[in-house]
Amino acid sequence: MKVPFLDLAAAYSELKSEIEASILASLRSGWYIGGQDVEAFEGEFSSYTGTQHCVGVANGLDALHLALRAMDIGLGDEVIVPSNTYIATWLAVSQCGAVPVPVEPLDSTYNIDPAKIEAAITPRTRAIIPVHLYGQPADLDPILAVARKYRLRLLEDAAQAHGARYKGKRIGGHSDAVAWSFYPGKNLGALGDAGAVTTNDPEIADRIRVLHNYGSRVKYVNEVQGYNSRLDPVQAVALRVKLKYLDEWNARRVAIAAHYTERLAGTGLVLPQVPGWAEPAWHLYVVQHAKRDAVQQNLQEAGVGTLIHYPIPPHLQQAYQSLGYVAGQFPIAESMARQLLSLPMGPQLDEAGIEAVINALDASAQA
Ligand SMILES: *Cc1c(COP(=O)(O)O)cnc(C)c1O
Repeated sequence: MKVPFLDLAAAYSELKSEIEASILASLRSGWYIGGQDVEAFEGEFSSYTGTQHCVGVANGLDALHLALRAMDIGLGDEVIVPSNTYIATWLAVSQCGAVPVPVEPLDSTYNIDPAKIEAAITPRTRAIIPVHLYGQPADLDPILAVARKYRLRLLEDAAQAHGARYKGKRIGGHSDAVAWSFYPGKNLGALGDAGAVTTNDPEIADRIRVLHNYGSRVKYVNEVQGYNSRLDPVQAVALRVKLKYLDEWNARRVAIAAHYTERLAGTGLVLPQVPGWAEPAWHLYVVQHAKRDAVQQNLQEAGVGTLIHYPIPPHLQQAYQSLGYVAGQFPIAESMARQLLSLPMGPQLDEAGIEAVINALDASAQA
């Protein structure tokens, strides 16, 4: 039996008739930029996340970048980021002319260690970007306390955390702004690139609205040098349909995670740990093993697809050579990069698929 890491075709197929009918109507409307569906999605997603404002943008990287721009982050500023995140978190900072300053994660949750943030703050620090990695909320309260103490902005990277809850409240409005990606493989995924920023700060929302549309509020009147980063109406239509199913699909992820956790205890794999206050969205189910490459190879041979999130931490990427980091400077992120393995996870992964993964792991993780 073959178990793909993620089956996007199966996900599409489940909502096919509803998505296709709405997209066809949108295509026939003659309206191809902005408009009713984009506005409707923004309203629905801000309700879903319990926030006052939502601005749709072209992708998750732009959501992060434009939110930082709206906070006036620029040349010479420093922004604290996790050492073990996807590179987009760092790139958004660099795109502003600012410098990403890495802070190591907690071993237990993979999220930024709040106790290590203060030591990374300098007079140039302007903001902190916690990432809710793998769908598990970062510990926002102590991070908010540090941000307040040093008057720093707080921007959350929630690209993997649609529907996750921190202390009972959905991710979306705890901080100054929250950046979302609707890349197809995310919990709320479009049929192409898409993203958004949610915020309760009307000024940030307004600035992103201007920035994402050529720096313009009124057509052909340009207040600032802006960008073209708009949410496509066809994507908004697909997202409106899929948002209705997000909680149900997340509940399936929760059940799969519970199943894995129950059955993989005692296999020698390090399993995800969830603090009492966290309700993860289970974007990924990530385990660790000292012989990760061998385990992955065995699973591959058994027909089970896995991925590594992420094999090279940003500070060791060629793209960030200019920052001058060397191996050994962020040992937690580096050790995770060697040992992490993401198991198949998604709302369409069925019982037989889960069993096949568990059986393949039983055989291989002891090795
Ligand atoms: C996917 C992702 C992004 C970037 O989103 P795109 O829509 O691909 O630009 C940013 N941060 C994290 C943590 C992500 O997983």
